[in-house]
Amino acid sequence: MRYISTRGDAPVLSFEEAMLTGLARDGGLYLPETWPTMSEAEIADLAGKSFEEVAFRVMKPYIGDAFTEEEFRGIIDRAYASFGHDLRCPLVQVGPERWVQELHHGPTLAFKDVAMQLIGQLFEFALKRRGERVTIVGATSGDTGSAAIEAFRGLEAVDVFILYPHGRVSEVQRRQMTTPTESNVHALAVEGDFDDCQAAVKAMFNDFDFRDRMKLAAVNSINWARVLAQAVYYFTSAVALDAPGRKISYSVPTGNFGDVFAGYVAKRMGLPIDRLVVATNQNDILHRTVQTGAHEKRGVEPSTSPSMDIQVSSNFERLLFDLYDREGPAVQQLMKELSDNGGFALSQGAKDRLCDEFDSARYGEDEVAGLIKTYAAKTGHVLCPHTAIGVGAAEAVSGPVVALATAHAAKFPDAVEAACGQRPALPARMADLYERDERFTVLPNDLDALKGHIRKSART
Ligand SMILES: *Cc1c(COP(=O)(O)O)cnc(C)c1O
Repeated sequence: MRYISTRGDAPVLSFEEAMLTGLARDGGLYLPETWPTMSEAEIADLAGKSFEEVAFRVMKPYIGDAFTEEEFRGIIDRAYASFGHDLRCPLVQVGPERWVQELHHGPTLAFKDVAMQLIGQLFEFALKRRGERVTIVGATSGDTGSAAIEAFRGLEAVDVFILYPHGRVSEVQRRQMTTPTESNVHALAVEGDFDDCQAAVKAMFNDFDFRDRMKLAAVNSINWARVLAQAVYYFTSAVALDAPGRKISYSVPTGNFGDVFAGYVAKRMGLPIDRLVVATNQNDILHRTVQTGAHEKRGVEPSTSPSMDIQVSSNFERLLFDLYDREGPAVQQLMKELSDNGGFALSQGAKDRLCDEFDSARYGEDEVAGLIKTYAAKTGHVLCPHTAIGVGAAEAVSGPVVALATAHAAKFPDAVEAACGQRPALPARMADLYERDERFTVLPNDLDALKGHIRKSART
């Protein structure tokens, strides 16, 4: 399988190259040249198989000969061994024709572990074989940084540096970043806010001298391998609910459009998915796009579902590529309008195709709290605010529908307690998180100081 850029003007790459590169040189995102498909019989045969087996069969056509069968199986097994549930992404029925798929049994209690754990093992294997090392540098407001640290801790070919705003992440999030003991993990508490952290990381990547010397790499959500890993759980849940014998809809809490795009990928591969519901919080650019065809940036309003507080939804570009018949120049033009004018309008044809596949819903802050409260009263279980939005949006769908649970409620205890009066406890396997020793370095919001620290601490 070869990978092409959504903007049509970057080198065509192999799976391994696309994974290690991340962003294409023309500013676009990598996608497979064609969508591999699975027959009805092949899909039916996934029923009852382990998550790892389904992962192998679904992802195999995309990796080509990057790894032998045995190597790839080993990578998958190591990636999911850290999960706290044997099924990895189990399905729970919550009502007639209503299910929740729990994607939060990974080490940081959010669905980003599903992809990030695999990325860690893929990077380690590919880099060792090439005799190369990289330095991963990222900024986080909480979830992505801890998932990256958990994925890369203890790996030989990678050092990982995560910048977070000192004193401005939740205690659970901070402890997940500061308690790993491996020497290749570096939690950097920057005396500034999240935007300062992000600006510093961007500046490091734009300093080509520093970037090349330190072999900087990014593992943000535009990496194709992350999207691919997420397609897997759509298959495990759909076949558990009798696909391909019936069509299943999915309701997906959405920020960067990565998770819901993975559902679209599964559908292109032949999985009989009916509707894909884009479920947003008050930062609703994607909801407005589905409803009106106008994709327009507005300011970000902080919410109780912070991992969806996004207005630049990077992975939407991948869908645009298909909506515009895979014509790079058309995508290039739309992205130019987005950066010049803060928005663009979809053509009628593109809007129609979008609505053929996707529905959308939006929930304001009071509505999210109401959803958490109602669900707790009805089931005795508490939902994280992101998941509550997905569960709420599933209600309007007719037929069988799965809402994706993207985080464990204990990751957002304050918002959950305020909504329903119950304070969610951490799962037993990490109940000692509050007692573990912390290790982090406080640094000024100063680019040279940050670079200097990374240069002297990295093994590269
Ligand atoms: C990242 C995240 C999301 C949004 O996922 P996207 O792939 O960015 O759409 C939703 N919920 C949680 C808990 C997350 O961490």
